[in-house]
Amino acid sequence: MRTRSAVLYAPGERIRVEEIELDPPKEHEVQVRMVAAGICHSDYHIVVGDLPSYLPIALGHEGAGIVEEVGPNVTNCKPGDHVVLTFIPSCGHCRYCTAGHANLCNMGANILMGPQLDGTFRMHGEKGDIGQMCVISTFSERSVVPDASVVVIGDYYALNRAVLVGCGVPTGVGAVIHRAKVEAGSTVMVIGCGGIGMNAVQGAAIAGARMIIAVDINDFKLEKAKEFGATHTVNSTREDPVQIAKDLTWGLGVDYAFEAIATPATIGQAYAALGKGGTVVVIGLTPYTAESIPVSPLDLVLYQKTLMGTLYGDSQPRYDIPNMLAMYHAGKLKLDELVTRTYTLDQVNEAYADMVGGKNIRGVIEF
Ligand SMILES: [Zn+2]
Ligand SMILES: [Zn+2]
Repeated sequence: MRTRSAVLYAPGERIRVEEIELDPPKEHEVQVRMVAAGICHSDYHIVVGDLPSYLPIALGHEGAGIVEEVGPNVTNCKPGDHVVLTFIPSCGHCRYCTAGHANLCNMGANILMGPQLDGTFRMHGEKGDIGQMCVISTFSERSVVPDASVVVIGDYYALNRAVLVGCGVPTGVGAVIHRAKVEAGSTVMVIGCGGIGMNAVQGAAIAGARMIIAVDINDFKLEKAKEFGATHTVNSTREDPVQIAKDLTWGLGVDYAFEAIATPATIGQAYAALGKGGTVVVIGLTPYTAESIPVSPLDLVLYQKTLMGTLYGDSQPRYDIPNMLAMYHAGKLKLDELVTRTYTLDQVNEAYADMVGGKNIRGVIEF
């Protein structure tokens, strides 16, 4: 069938929204009509070329929609089901899935960008096969995805809100509650308050942190961070976040620092802001050219610091996606406040320009 999709042909070029050919779902695959897709920074790494990818690629890895058709041997969903797509497929029976780390599933190893799991393509353009971002390509009116990427949520939730628990919310909130396991009464710093960092602020509030220092270079995001639970804000173009973290904690340093910008320099700041026994959690994707981070190995021992990373906030999509939506329903998790602006699929370049310009916490494409 024909569908419309946002395709990148080369880094540095504009994303082209064009009609493409979409094959029907094969075994263990599902055709989804997209209702909403989130504008997340990870696609932008491919747009500017600081992460390598198969090209051309149909972008988008945060999406929610309705199942239209299923291929043979699909048992976890049926036509008509409302679903959130997860950007890491999980098999449910590998070493990592069975240990409770479906985010590290062998099926999703290295975050797939290219063909479907069987090595063949479902999307085709005039110049040949088109790869799929995280095998789901949510910036498409219709997409074919693995059943391992589909989580059924019931039809109670608005899909233009449910979309947010596909990537940004579980990554940020999960970094705090699953990966770091922040205790009530802790002191926390969050560097970078975009779609991921804002959810780390929100996660710290949910965990009961008594101090949440939000750091950004954008005053709009810092004001917004207060809505999500930040107790202090630091504009790092005007003030030194490390010094302020020390000042606010009587010289001790913070218990946890979450780094959501993913530059070696800001990871170094997060590490320097820690007190004894403190933990840094790196959440974002650094450009593949970034090789080392400026941390003191002596501090690692003398102050018993911990430096850790997290993929997808150590979230388990089949548990966390429905659970986070239930938290939203119970008034314990903010989703509406995350959405700054909505766009049409044709406005995808504008949506990324707004993200880069710091105008959005989360932009959402509505189909
Ligand atoms: Zn994302
Ligand atoms: Zn697995």
